Amino acid sequence: MDADIIVIGASPAGVMAARNASAKGCKVILLDKKEAAGVPTHPANTFFKGMFDRTGEEVDQSYVIKNLKGAYIIAPSGRNVVFEGEAYFLDRRKFDEFYIKQAKDAGADVRFGIEVLNVLRKDGSFVVSTSKGKVRSELVIVSDGINSRISALLDLKPIKHPEDIAWSMEAEIEAEGIGEPEFFEYYVGNHAPGWKSTYSPCGGNRATLGMYARRHGSDVSDLFDAWIEKFKALKGLDDVTIISRSTGGDPIAAIPGDIVADGVMVVGGSAAQSGIGYGMHAGKMCGNVAAEAIEKGDTSKNFLMRYRRLWNDAYRTEYYLGRFALETLRKMKDEEIDEMMKVFEGEDLKVLSGSPFNQALQISKMILKNNPSSILSYRAVFRNK
Ligand SMILES: Cc1cc2nc3c(=O)[nH]c(=O)nc-3n(C[C@H](O)[C@H](O)[C@H](O)COP(=O)(O)OP(=O)(O)OC[C@H]3O[C@@H](n4cnc5c(N)ncnc54)[C@H](O)[C@@H]3O)c2cc1C
Repeated sequence: MDADIIVIGASPAGVMAARNASAKGCKVILLDKKEAAGVPTHPANTFFKGMFDRTGEEVDQSYVIKNLKGAYIIAPSGRNVVFEGEAYFLDRRKFDEFYIKQAKDAGADVRFGIEVLNVLRKDGSFVVSTSKGKVRSELVIVSDGINSRISALLDLKPIKHPEDIAWSMEAEIEAEGIGEPEFFEYYVGNHAPGWKSTYSPCGGNRATLGMYARRHGSDVSDLFDAWIEKFKALKGLDDVTIISRSTGGDPIAAIPGDIVADGVMVVGGSAAQSGIGYGMHAGKMCGNVAAEAIEKGDTSKNFLMRYRRLWNDAYRTEYYLGRFALETLRKMKDEEIDEMMKVFEGEDLKVLSGSPFNQALQISKMILKNNPSSILSYRAVFRNK
């Protein structure tokens, strides 16, 4: 054996899995086809402290470009609610380098510039064929992002609802003072069906604009172009300079499917665990269980299901409610979104804490207090579209 565990893909989840399993004494090889950590840079570069805290990690200012104070959620009419809370715009390359260093310090053998081509089970272990030769291990952790090719090779369907993936386009833009505001802005409504368009200030004259839409197909450039025009009108700008564009899929609330098999665990975006924080937390659970499996000499699906159960306990309900909420949002008319927003306007949304059921209870109270008729806007749930 070359390693106890081979991790395929240095996503935030994969890096955490490699770090934690190494820290528990396993021999881990982490392989990624990228030329180096953060090269090319992934477009995901923002998160909220509230979510990151759940990973058990601490935000390190060395990779933060800008500290923000929260986010506005804005309805098509301009009606809005504010979520206050520490948030960050990251230097994603530095962020990746930071956690790769932690994985290396814990003992992981991190190799960039190596593409995994195939994974074969042989006599209860694995032969991983790469662009630079073969490596063997007892256990494989798959973290190669959405549309996971390695999961498909292993006959796994790790995303339950791939049709729900929010396809996206993001652009880094430049305009006078555009990076100065201290809140993200997320716009919902028919211009971004099922999810959101975004404005993320990152200091000075720089910001990013993003478009994320569900069930619109993977090319959202038409929606994105319309968003840039709308943004210019909203902010009174004659023009914005587009510095770079990127596209991708965000499997937000697309629900994990088969994420465990004999000797195999799938984690991160490839397992519908979208978002940097969610991915990292799942990666830690995965790495810890993988290490226990190696120590006990039991890499059966039965044993590895501990990872699935840990994830279920922490996130399953939240993900199912999230999927329900996003599908409802996708089917709502702009006027209905407006009615819904009236419920939250002016409320301190920090009270929305605790379990998803507790949050649902708090929201129900706000509906009854502020706009009971807004309940009708949720009839979108029953629409077929
Ligand atoms: C445009 C966009 C913006 C987003 N913005 C945010 C954001 O601001 N905040 C947030 O929390 N989430 C954001 N997301 C969601 C976020 O992308 C993901 O949740 C997060 O990056 C998880 O990454 P991942 O697990 O999908 O894998 P990735 O980060 O895509 O990593 C997969 C890795 O696997 C490697 N790989 C793939 N195949 C192979 C192979 N065969 N051999 C070797 N290596 C391989 C790739 O090189 C890559 O490094 C965004 C998503 C998109 C598309």
